[in-house]
Amino acid sequence: MYLIIATINVVLIKKDPLTMSAIEIIPCLSDNYAYLIRDEQTNKNILVDAPEHETIDKYLDKNAMSLDFILITHHHSDHIDGIDYLRQKYSPKIIGAKRDKHRLPNLDIEVVEGEKLSVGSKTFEIYDVDGHTVGHTAYALFEDKALFSGDSLMVMGCGRLFEGTPEEMWKSLKKLKQLPEDIMIYSGHEYTRSNIEFALTVDPKNKNLEARKVKDLYRIEKGTPTVPSSLREELATNPFLRESDPSIVDHLDMANLDPISRFAKIRALKDSF
Ligand code: ZN
Ligand code: FE
Repeated sequence: MYLIIATINVVLIKKDPLTMSAIEIIPCLSDNYAYLIRDEQTNKNILVDAPEHETIDKYLDKNAMSLDFILITHHHSDHIDGIDYLRQKYSPKIIGAKRDKHRLPNLDIEVVEGEKLSVGSKTFEIYDVDGHTVGHTAYALFEDKALFSGDSLMVMGCGRLFEGTPEEMWKSLKKLKQLPEDIMIYSGHEYTRSNIEFALTVDPKNKNLEARKVKDLYRIEKGTPTVPSSLREELATNPFLRESDPSIVDHLDMANLDPISRFAKIRALKDSF
């Protein structure tokens, strides 16, 4: 009995100022991120992706939190492997793309593009963002200025094209480019160091990129996540959103190519970087 009280006290007094925001970042595996959204109005907790169960379980335990919903971005194991364990222990409702349900863990709620999904007091808007996989979903939570993009749009990068075509990823990114510029991008991985190094090779004259390099390398050195980043920052520095920027077109000699072919060329260069 005494021990239990002591444990609760520790939980109550140990409030890390970095983890007090409504959206918590939980680093998983070697470079994945899961996100935990605390819906303070209904006291429900919503997880985006479950790369593994250990770190997420530990986090929930430490903070004496429930787990009520899990949103899945796509079928890759480094985004869903923790779900079975978490489902058994916490009984969350599992939410994912209807069109990819044959490859996802059993879904309690199936979503389709354009839908508004109510979870607790929160409303998510659903976007199909194919390219990395076919059946990939992004979840926009406009009231909290957050986009959960999985392995589509990333910090200064985008996911590798495992299943989709360059055209599909280009169209997905075009959709996301039209969101409000102050929306923050919560992507699935910490790939920022290699993404910056690559971006500088295709966009060497971009002053914003130089400034970002200094800021983000400092964060990486301190072990601080470089997510989330604003769409505004991405529009200024992410080469996959800037395939038709005159300086990049000139540098890569792409004046004769259409935008999709320019995107494809940048993606191919990154694949062999
Ligand atoms: Zn993936
Ligand atoms: Fe991934």
